[in-house]
Amino acid sequence: MLDCAIIGGGPAGLTAGLYTTRGGLDNVVMFEKGMPGGQITMSSEIENYPGATAHNLSGMDFMTPWPEQCQRFGLKHEMSEVTRISRNEDGIFIILKSDGSTDLAKSVIVGTGSAPKRAGFIGEDKYFGRGVSTCATCDGFFYKGKEVAVIGGGDTALEEALYLAKICTKVYLIHRRDAFRAAPNTIARVKATTNIELVLNGSPEEVLGDAMGVTGVRVVFQDSSTRQIDVPGVFVFIGNNVNNQVLIQEDGTFLCDMTESGEVKVDLSMKTSVSGLFAAGDMRESAPKQVVCAAGDGAVAALQAISYVDEHFH
Ligand code: FAD
Repeated sequence: MLDCAIIGGGPAGLTAGLYTTRGGLDNVVMFEKGMPGGQITMSSEIENYPGATAHNLSGMDFMTPWPEQCQRFGLKHEMSEVTRISRNEDGIFIILKSDGSTDLAKSVIVGTGSAPKRAGFIGEDKYFGRGVSTCATCDGFFYKGKEVAVIGGGDTALEEALYLAKICTKVYLIHRRDAFRAAPNTIARVKATTNIELVLNGSPEEVLGDAMGVTGVRVVFQDSSTRQIDVPGVFVFIGNNVNNQVLIQEDGTFLCDMTESGEVKVDLSMKTSVSGLFAAGDMRESAPKQVVCAAGDGAVAALQAISYVDEHFH
């Protein structure tokens, strides 16, 4: 039986792997369905992880040493997709994999991450990471002193537009309706910000670009008219999918308590409502969705998993 099963090999899972093994757990396996590294490997550049000061450091290059560092302390990596985590009456976790096989574990740290929703306009995938972004904290700085477009009309879109308005000379906030679905106070702040232009009743039809990246976005309005907005950056905030499927039980309920939007409820120790089950990174409630935070969560969860195994199995 495993001391700890880690589900997901992004920054949260890898850090959990480092801390559990280095902290004394013997039999720890990290289940990752693809290559370890997580979402950040899709990013062309990361410059907000403390100490990572190399110029033009890609997300892939940044994450490359992480698995090797964990393996040095004994973390085992299994390339498998986990389909379900359940728990038997003795409190042992059952890890069901897509090939039908199972593993048993004393504790589980789940860090399966999240994925921002795509809007589906032409060029969105082609220019993702080259001008199309879903993270203002990550990429906003690259557009310092420039104009950008923001797509969306909810709280996140408006808050990110306000964030970008502090860095960029102008923000075009493009929303398909004439009213926003956000907190009244946030809407008032957006309307009072002079360098945010509201582009309402319009949806992005196509993001335009060249070999260097995005050059603009063409918006189509409800009356079928169009407008081309010339910007090097387009930020899409239309929601986020949490990768929580592994927690869904045979009867359709979740293994642990979840928020209404499908994030795992945790306390400050990354403990879920189920003893021995911890959640870390983008999938937990109120996650800032940053590498440094996911790594921090992974470390916290690992320290708790070590205590849990010591307390219950020794
Ligand atoms: P993820 O990184 O999402 O990792 C989860 C892992 O779990 C994945 O590898 C996935 O394959 C695996 N997995 C999922 N389901 C299963 C399953 N059922 N079985 C097995 N494995 C599974 N953050 C920053 O701090 N700075 C940046 O500059 C920055 N730029 C970004 C740019 C882009 C384009 C994107 C997409 C994100 C960026 N982020 C950035 C955000 C950052 O990548 C995330 O906050 C971080 O990766 C979250 O880590 P995580 O470990 O929680 O989840």
